[in-house]
Amino acid sequence: MSEPEGDAKLEVVKQASKDVKESENVAEKYSAMTVSKNSEMNMGELSSAFSAVPTHKPVKKQIQFVEDKQEFSRFPTKTGRRSLSRSISQSSTDSYSSAASYTDSSDDETSPRDKTQVNSKGSSDFCVKNIKQAEFGRREIEIAEQDMSALISLRKRAQSEKPLAGAKIVGCTHITAQTAVLIETLVALGAQCRWTACNIYSTQNEVAAALSETGVAVFAWKGESEDDFWWCIDRCVNSEGWQPNTILDDGGDLTHWMYKKYPNVFKKIRGIVEESVTGVHRLYQLSKAGKLCVPAMNVNDSVTKQKFDNLYCCRESILDGLKRTTDIMFGGKQVVVCGYGEVGKGCCAALKALGAIVCVTEIDPICALQACMDGFRVVKLNEVIRQVDVTITCTGNKNVVTRDQLDRMKNGSIVCNMGHSNTEIDVASLRTPELTWERVRSQVDHVIWPDGKRVILLAEGRLLNLSCSTVPTFVLSITATTQALALIELYNAPEGRYKQDVYLLPKKMDEYVASLHLATFDAHLTELSDDQAKYLGLNKNGPFKPNYYRY
Ligand code: NAD
Repeated sequence: MSEPEGDAKLEVVKQASKDVKESENVAEKYSAMTVSKNSEMNMGELSSAFSAVPTHKPVKKQIQFVEDKQEFSRFPTKTGRRSLSRSISQSSTDSYSSAASYTDSSDDETSPRDKTQVNSKGSSDFCVKNIKQAEFGRREIEIAEQDMSALISLRKRAQSEKPLAGAKIVGCTHITAQTAVLIETLVALGAQCRWTACNIYSTQNEVAAALSETGVAVFAWKGESEDDFWWCIDRCVNSEGWQPNTILDDGGDLTHWMYKKYPNVFKKIRGIVEESVTGVHRLYQLSKAGKLCVPAMNVNDSVTKQKFDNLYCCRESILDGLKRTTDIMFGGKQVVVCGYGEVGKGCCAALKALGAIVCVTEIDPICALQACMDGFRVVKLNEVIRQVDVTITCTGNKNVVTRDQLDRMKNGSIVCNMGHSNTEIDVASLRTPELTWERVRSQVDHVIWPDGKRVILLAEGRLLNLSCSTVPTFVLSITATTQALALIELYNAPEGRYKQDVYLLPKKMDEYVASLHLATFDAHLTELSDDQAKYLGLNKNGPFKPNYYRY
């Protein structure tokens, strides 16, 4: 987006000062609530508290639009079911230390779609790899609960009120133990849930089984084909006698499917909560085209999501994903990270700490300057592609690594993606007759050129950490708590509070999520004195920053 000029610039300045005034008014409205007192709020208070917040206005101006129609015209490919299970069974999965994430069930070749499974209550309204893994999955969920105490405390606090009674939520997220804790929280708060996976590799089969055993209709397994992926979404949405009224999406595929295939059901949705950069971008495109007919919450841009999940989660999991798949030693290795946003910053920090020589590519001069100040060389990918040992994409963009660049990588070069979609590396261009693909481990392919050069492609270009490692539970508790509050807010909002647009969560809600998580660290917040609050022009109980504050 270019800088506004003249009158337009003045308008932006006026709007900014109006935003400041509004947030001051908000502070007064919350005068009775301290952050710690917020922890005692009931859900009714929470919902009505948020209703008073003027920051509910749409935030379209923050987003740049690109002419990428592909995103919303993407339909299921007609590839049919790939024999992925075959290639997995030929591979070694022994190197994985976490049994939890890597139950590929390589001993079981049958597609879940071809099996008849029934849970202990006699229901067959689910499709998972193996319902018999439910007990194992339950233990995984219990382990996750231990590090998600803030979400559990929200569950306990609100379960007598059932703020989601009557909510019929369809979800499309990574299906992991942590997501299961969120889903079971939503159920405890009164919701009925049907769930599918937003990624064909990230499902923890045993967790999907545990959820199905308790009556959540889950349609997902690790190693789905593209055709399975869309079939699962459809089974989730299209259920006889059950019509969804709320969506929780990660990446926008479920939203897209409902919008295209079930427009009449879609129109009646009370709200969409979207958590990814990619999905939010798609929602803004729909909104810009005047085609968004339901309210949506952009959770990705909540501070408690973006600054924690994107940054800290990736900082902690990038090394894990690379190590488990390749056993790489990082010291002295040359790594290029494409994109220095939140995810890129997290990856670079972790790699640098282990002694890798890291350089960065960027399109945005601000992020490029940040990379420089953090001590990374900013380069064009073409300048380093011949030398680097590892290439990591984290842009949310497409065709960041092209076939031409893959051709020029050196023997043994590793290439992987940390962005949401498998669009960043041009993997399709590698499926040509002159190149040989060799699956050497689960999620690890050697692509071999006619001269014998091998490039190591991880997770077929899908996001590495969710596909090939586990992710830190605590940080996902923060995101899950934000999602749960967003769903409660959208579902309980009186008619007219939200129009057919994309909204940000109020700052107060972000602060509340953060305050719930401080207890884990025995962190003690300093309270403003009356005098200090007056001096800063703040309400003692928050919000503590204006909306434009960047953290
Ligand atoms: P961001 O917008 O903060 O950062 C992306 C950066 O990439 C931006 O600075 C942008 O200028 C840059 N960029 C865009 N096109 C580029 C190109 N061609 N070359 C170089 N740089 C380019 O977004 P983010 O929060 O860092 O998220 C990035 C992606 O990661 C998204 O797809 C998001 O959904 C995903 N994500 C993944 C995880 C995970 O656990 N793996 C967690 C959160 C988000």
